[in-house]
Formats: sequence, C-alpha cells, structure tokens
Amino acid sequence: MSDLSNKVILTVAPTGNVPTREMTPYVPITPQEIAAEAYACWQEGAAVVHIHTRDKNGAPTSDVEVNREVMAELDKYPDCDIIRQVSTGGRAGKSYTERGQMMCLSPDMSSLATGSSNFPAKCNFNDPETVSYLASEMLKYNVKPEIEVFDTAMIWNAIRLAEKGEVKTPLHFNFVLGVVGSQPATVESLMYNYQSLPKGCTWGVTIIGKNHVQLSTIAMALGGHVRVGIEDNIFYSKGVLATNIALLRRMKNIALAMGKEPATPAEARQILSLPTKA
Ligand code: ZN
Repeated sequence: MSDLSNKVILTVAPTGNVPTREMTPYVPITPQEIAAEAYACWQEGAAVVHIHTRDKNGAPTSDVEVNREVMAELDKYPDCDIIRQVSTGGRAGKSYTERGQMMCLSPDMSSLATGSSNFPAKCNFNDPETVSYLASEMLKYNVKPEIEVFDTAMIWNAIRLAEKGEVKTPLHFNFVLGVVGSQPATVESLMYNYQSLPKGCTWGVTIIGKNHVQLSTIAMALGGHVRVGIEDNIFYSKGVLATNIALLRRMKNIALAMGKEPATPAEARQILSLPTKA
C-alpha cells in the first residue's frame, strides 16, 4: 500500500439544494450537467462527488429515477472512477423513505446527518427514527455513510449508532460549519469537533461562508479532508461568483503548497475503507 498520510480527499459538491440559476449561472442542475461537472472536477483532482438532484423545475428532489439518470450520465465517462456520494438531506424529501429511496442504486457513499439542527429558515429534521431508517438502508445496500456533523451532538450520536451496529466502522465524519442555525465557522468550533473524534475514524470539513478557505486550510493541516463546491459557497471571493472548478483548483493548490497531494479516487477508497472498484 502506498503512503497515504499526505493525501487529501477533495470532494466536490457542485449543486446542493439551494443554489438556483437566478443566484448563479454556474450551478449544474440537469443529470447531464451534473455528470459533466463531476467529470471536469475529477480531471482537476476531485476524488468524490457529492450529488444532489433536481426535478424538471430545478427544485430539490430525492427521486430515485433522477438519481438513476445521474448515475447513467456518469457511466458515459468510463475513464472516470470518481466516488459517488448521494445526499439524504432533509430539504429534498418529506418522509425518510422518500429521502432514502436512492440507496437501492448502491452508490459508494451517502450523507447521513445523525441529528436535527436548523437551516436558516427551517428545521434540518433528523429524528432518531429517521436516522435509524436511513442508516439501515445504507447497511442493506452496502453504502458507506458520511456522517454530516451540523452540531457536535451528531458526533456522539454516530458513535452510539456504531456501538449498536447500525453503522459500520471506521466512521467518516464531515464537519459542516457555518450553516446559519447550526454550528459556526470558527477555529474554536473546528477544534472542538476535531478533539471529539473517536479513534480510527476519518474526517473532513465543509465550510460555508467567508472563512471557508482559511478553515479548510487549517483542517488540511490537522490531517482532514475538504469539500468544496457551489452547494456550500456560491462566491469565490467577495462579490465574485464561484465555479466548481475554480473552488477546487484553489484548494488543490493550497494542498500542494502545504506539501500534500490530492488523493486519487483509488487512494480515497483505501483511506475511506471503501471496496476497491472492479
Ligand atoms: Zn449536500
């Protein structure tokens, strides 16, 4: 096995649930656009694509058929082995069965928020029953959860789920900092999350807002991985709209300047204990 200690897994989150064409022309919406963006980002060093799907009107949806279409579009790039991570986020479905319906496609990974918190104007609803259901679907279809930590209780909840055998270990955490209504994007907040991690896990960050470059850099220095993309930041800098490629390229260059290297999808699979792609 090669030395993976200086590898950074760069995840791109190109779409999300919130950005619209009115907000930014650079957000990919259709399955074709999402796959093309994932391919371009893979060429630029992304090892994981975090996928959100939209309906014909551009509204968030968990529809299994739209997810299937995205996978089929990704299949049109046979050289691209980017790790496919779907979302079970609460904005795209009313019930937990609706939110977990794409697990039957057996994506490599899926987001799993292990508790409730707030978004700016609504609840990020993940009660124990919802979390257990989504976790059980992931177990059933051999999908690795990425534990989305919007608030620190979600770390402890994930550890409890692992103790009960509802999620497999090693756990992979993603600290989401800077969502209005949840934990803030500050150094203190990042450090508390980092110091609360169980042994043997892997982790990364998703930083929203003006501190995203600095805090992502600190996370890399601590050995963490980083997610970038229009889902999390529609602005590259003050008043300048971002493209997914530009956000990714900047983070890659910072990683390189720190003596780190972007992990290939194959390396990321090793780091995340994912099965090797046939
Ligand atoms: Zn997401």
